[in-house]
Amino acid sequence: MNENQHKKGGRLIKKIDFNSFKFKVWITLMSFAVIIIGLLWISQVIFLEYYLNSYKLNEFRSCRDELISSSESQYNTLEGKFGFTIDVLKEDDDKYVVEYSSNGLNFGSKDQIVSDKSIISESLKNTNEDKDSLIKNNKTSRYYYCAKLNNGRLLFLSQSTEIIDSTVKILRTQMVIASITILVLITCLSVIVSAIFTKDISKLSDSAKKLAKSDYSVVFEEKGNTEIAEIASALNYATKEMAVTTNLRRELIANVSHDLRTPLTIIKGHAEMIKDITGDNKAKREQQLDVIIKETDRLTILVRDMLELSRLEANPELDKKALSLSDIVTDVFDSLSIYNEKDGYNITADIDDDLLVFADRTRLQLATYNLISNAINYTGEDKRVEIKLKRTGDKARFEVKDTGDGIPDENIKKIWERYYRAKEHKRSVAGNGLGLSIVKTILELHQAEFGVDSVLGEGSVFWYEINLIDK
Ligand code: ADP
Repeated sequence: MNENQHKKGGRLIKKIDFNSFKFKVWITLMSFAVIIIGLLWISQVIFLEYYLNSYKLNEFRSCRDELISSSESQYNTLEGKFGFTIDVLKEDDDKYVVEYSSNGLNFGSKDQIVSDKSIISESLKNTNEDKDSLIKNNKTSRYYYCAKLNNGRLLFLSQSTEIIDSTVKILRTQMVIASITILVLITCLSVIVSAIFTKDISKLSDSAKKLAKSDYSVVFEEKGNTEIAEIASALNYATKEMAVTTNLRRELIANVSHDLRTPLTIIKGHAEMIKDITGDNKAKREQQLDVIIKETDRLTILVRDMLELSRLEANPELDKKALSLSDIVTDVFDSLSIYNEKDGYNITADIDDDLLVFADRTRLQLATYNLISNAINYTGEDKRVEIKLKRTGDKARFEVKDTGDGIPDENIKKIWERYYRAKEHKRSVAGNGLGLSIVKTILELHQAEFGVDSVLGEGSVFWYEINLIDK
């Protein structure tokens, strides 16, 4: 049983979900229908009578105009033409005498005195020399049009209202039937429309529920309405991205835990050995303590790199200032050139002076450091590393060249991914696979171009180019 249903007296009662798509479609169409019906009612029922009366008044007036310019002998023709009865009354001491009458039915026949003056007095209330009047008498079911003629006589034109009354009645009944039919049709239409739309939405929602349970094999059907197909395509994209991210996260956790566990195991093993066996053997103890120190350094670098990467991702804001890239590269070269004396390296640098760039000093220094220390780690037996910083047009180009194994084409893209490490290298290098992904993130944040040109067996040149500040 879903949330919108509950049992009452043993029967399943479906509660109306006012927030549902179905209800909203129904209420929208219904409101629309009610407005249209309302407008129809106002025009048909309220204004119809008003409209018919003014239409009649115009007819009476044209009849009157023709009558004024006609002789009494032509009245008959006018009656036939307009379908009105014509009465002309003469006032005589408060009495009204019939001077002309079509059929004598309204006021009596010619020369008779009008006995019932109610229609005359009602008409006269609104009539004067310039103004005519039209009344509708419900008792006799007739229109009476009254106008004063030039010779002081009263002209009455009259017609039965029955046809008009019954037309209005029929129209009103039809309106009621039409309104009910429209409302029923709208309800059916809203059910059909919402069923058409919710069918695709329900499918999306079912797939989304699977996705929520981490089922990344789910596929959102990209068919139906354009908007729904677009949502489905966006969800398919999101699903793919989520699958990739989840995989990366799993790999990341596996890598991190492996990278942390290995040095910790080595440190623990060596510490235990010193404690239990080699504590008094100075030479062995020193050797094992060296291993412990090396592994601790490795751990420190790993933790530092992990922190740097997560900091860069969490807050990719840079503290950019105008600074000398020449100074940065020189500083890194100075700090790493101790390898020249210590380990017999041949690290050389050719650095142009005063190359000013707009950059984050710490970050750009770290990227440069990582590239140079990689070159030191991976260079060939001759231990040669060449550093260059040159102006090329409006850019500064940094290069670091080694004489190592080079990188196979198929790995060129992968080396920038985090935790990627090539399996074989001539010398064992204690890396963690984070160095180049830090370089990549930093250089991208500086909108710098970067890359590697590598020849297998000859070595690699890692480079980046960054805009100079115009002086
Ligand atoms: P690592 O800590 O393994 O050096 P990096 O992210 O700095 O991690 O580098 C990723 C991989 O790229 C390295 O494992 C190595 O295989 C390759 N690589 C990086 N620099 C060089 C280089 N100068 N010469 C050859 N291979 C390199």
